[in-house]
Amino acid sequence: MNSFLYESQSARVLFGIDKVNEIKDEISILDIKNVMVISSPQQEDFARSVAERIGEYCGDIFPMAVQHVPVENVKVGIEQVRKLEIDGLVAVGGGSAIGLAKAIALSTSLPIVAIPTTYAGSEMTPIWGITENGLKKTGKNVIVKPKTVIYDPKLTLSLPPTFSITSGMNGIAHCVEGLYSEHANPIISLLAEEGIRALSSSLPILKENPNDLEARAKAQYGTMLGGVVLGSVGMALHHKLCHTLGGSYNLPHAETHTVILPYVTEYNSNYAPAAMEAIGRALNVDAENAGASLYDLATNLGIPISLEKIGMKEENLNEAAELATQNPYYNPRPVNQESIRALLQCAFEGIRPEKGIFT
Ligand code: NAD
Repeated sequence: MNSFLYESQSARVLFGIDKVNEIKDEISILDIKNVMVISSPQQEDFARSVAERIGEYCGDIFPMAVQHVPVENVKVGIEQVRKLEIDGLVAVGGGSAIGLAKAIALSTSLPIVAIPTTYAGSEMTPIWGITENGLKKTGKNVIVKPKTVIYDPKLTLSLPPTFSITSGMNGIAHCVEGLYSEHANPIISLLAEEGIRALSSSLPILKENPNDLEARAKAQYGTMLGGVVLGSVGMALHHKLCHTLGGSYNLPHAETHTVILPYVTEYNSNYAPAAMEAIGRALNVDAENAGASLYDLATNLGIPISLEKIGMKEENLNEAAELATQNPYYNPRPVNQESIRALLQCAFEGIRPEKGIFT
C-alpha cells in the first residue's frame, strides 16, 4: 500500500426519520441560546416550522439565501447577527442556505447546525464560497464546518423529482473525483465507493416513487459520504469545469454536474484505473465503461445529458475551454485547451462517452 495522509474532521450527525424534531436538544448541546434560522425565500415556511421547534431559543429567521452566496446578503446577515446578538446559526435547505450560513460564520465564528434538504453535501465540508462583483471566491476554513448535521429523509420528499436526480448526481460527482484526487487515500476511497453505490441504487427507485422513504434515506446516506469526501480531499477536472460553466455562463449547479461527470470520468479512465475499478464495483458494471455507465444512469433516469439542453451556447465553448485550463486543478490526466475543447463538444452534443472517445 502506498503512503497516504488522512485527516479526520469532527462532526456530529443525527440521521433518521423525524430527527428534525430533535433540533432544540442539539442546540442546547452546543449551548446556543439565540439562533438565526437561515433558508432560501422558497423555503421560508419550512424555516418557520424549524423556528417553532426551537421555540424560545430562536431569535430570527433570515430567508435570504440564493445561489452563489452574494456578498450583499452576507453583509446584511452579519449586521443582523450583531444587532440581535445571535449566538448560533441553523441552516435549513440546500447548498445555498448552508453556504450563506458558512459565509456569515466566516466573519463571526458562530457555530452552525445544518439541516440539509438536497443532495449537494455542503453540510459536511469546511468549504465556503462568496460572490462579489460577479466573481466567486472559495476557501476552506474549519470554522465554517457545521458542528451538527441533521439528516431527516422526510425533508427531501418535497424536492422536485428531476432535481432529486440531478442533485443526487452532484453527490456522485464528489465521490468519483475523490477516488482519483491528488489526496486520495484508502479511507476516503471506501466512503466514495459506498457513496456512489448508495446514490446510484436509490435514484432509480426515487424516479419511480419519489415518496419512497427508504430510498430517500439511502440517497441522503450517499450524500453524507460524498460530502465527507468533498470536504476531505481535493477535487479535479470535473469540478474545475463545473465551476467555470456555472460561474461564467450561469448554468445550473446540479444539472451541470450531471452533464459533465460521464465525460470527465471517461477522459480520466486510463489515468485512474483504481478509481474506475471502484466506480465499476459501485455501479455493478465493467470498469472499462465507467464513464458511459454514468451517462446511462443519468439518461435512464430521464435527465438530458447535454450542455446545449441546460443553456450553454456553442459559440462559448472555445472561451470555456480557455477559462477551464487557466489555473487548472490537479487532474490525473494532463489537460490542455484542445483536449478540454473536445470534451466540451461531446458534452454539448450529449454524445455517449464510449471507451476511447478522448484518446
Ligand atoms: P440550492 O440550495 O440552491 O437549492 C435549489 C432550490 O431548491 C432552492 O430554491 C431551494 O429553496 C430549493 N429546495 C431545496 N431543498 C428543497 C426541498 N427539500 N424541497 C423543495 N425545494 C427545495 O441547491 P443545491 O444544489 O443544494 O446547492 C447548490 C449550491 O451549493 C451551489 O452554489 C454550490 O456551489 C453550493 N455547494 C457548496 C458545497 C460546499 O461544500 N461548500 C458543496 C456543494 C454545493
